Amino acid sequence: MTTPSGEPGGVTEAEWSAAVEAVRGLAPGPDGDEIQLVCHVNPDGDALGSMLGFALGMRRLGFTRVRATFPGEFELPVPYQNLPGLDLLVPQDEAYARPAIVLIFDVAAVSRLGDLRRLLAAPCVIVLDHHASNTRFGGVHLVDPRAAATSMMVDGLLGRLGVPLDAQIAECLYVALATDTGSFKFELTTPAVHELAARLVATGIRPGDISRRIFDTRPFGAMKLAGEVLGRACLDPTAAGGRGMVWTYATLADLDRFDQRPYVLDALIDPVRSVAEADVAVLVKQAAENEWGVSLRSKGAVDVSKVAVALGGGGHRLAAGFTGYGTPGEVVAQVRALLDQSLTFST
Ligand code: 5GP
Ligand code: MN
Repeated sequence: MTTPSGEPGGVTEAEWSAAVEAVRGLAPGPDGDEIQLVCHVNPDGDALGSMLGFALGMRRLGFTRVRATFPGEFELPVPYQNLPGLDLLVPQDEAYARPAIVLIFDVAAVSRLGDLRRLLAAPCVIVLDHHASNTRFGGVHLVDPRAAATSMMVDGLLGRLGVPLDAQIAECLYVALATDTGSFKFELTTPAVHELAARLVATGIRPGDISRRIFDTRPFGAMKLAGEVLGRACLDPTAAGGRGMVWTYATLADLDRFDQRPYVLDALIDPVRSVAEADVAVLVKQAAENEWGVSLRSKGAVDVSKVAVALGGGGHRLAAGFTGYGTPGEVVAQVRALLDQSLTFST
């Protein structure tokens, strides 16, 4: 069997075997071992879909003591409130105290686990991820930076565990795959991505309905908010060695004014990144008084994961993020200062 990416440089067979044996060694049933699944703070489609798809797979194997959680406030973006397997999701305070095994999804660094980092003390910790910046903080690492989504690692593990894809698992994994490939648009959309998508769609799920719900539905207020945030964007053509940077920001007051939740801002990086005159796009989203969640995107000239890592975050070459402090202008100035050092000169 090849790695999910179908290319070298992925997960070794020894690592796959270690993960499979760890799961097979668990006792199923109502008195069996406790299995805790975790994904990253502010979970996105890949984090939630991968985790819940795997949770359902564990149920199919007869494991009844399975809980899924994520750190921070127990609130899901509306588009994910219909995902299969949500009955297995609990607030972080209800995570098992001493699970026999912990599986961690789409988490590149311990900082993304918040208070749930305590779970790293479990006897067995398996990390499923696809971030090049993954710091390998667990016991077994199913981490392939060439995989477009963590859901590809989940498919690889479920397959090796003999769990067939059913429509519920498939819906979770499809949401994950479609999210992290930007609806099959991004550079890692390999034949293996489409091959997995084909197997998922073959279970009978409805990609049109799922995509409309996940990507193409938003409240009127969110659209009006987008208008303001995009309207205040700035273009800095001399940044990144003349490749250009476009940036904008959104405050908590903006969210209040339009009565919107923070997750609606996440999608706004897509119109910002479409600006032809800029290789780099930056969206600065207020999280607290002086704290900002920053999304970075590149068209290829800049490795934005280097910028993000330098500022305490992480991510991928073309999509990364970090937490910034100060004013939006100060946060963007920090990014700008690092851009020239992160030019890849590959394009
Ligand atoms: P987004 O901009 O969509 O929130 O994130 C883009 C990518 O950067 C994702 O792969 C995400 O995991 C990563 N990322 C975003 N924010 C952070 C952060 O604060 N820390 C780390 N390690 N990665 C981040
Ligand atoms: Mn992901």
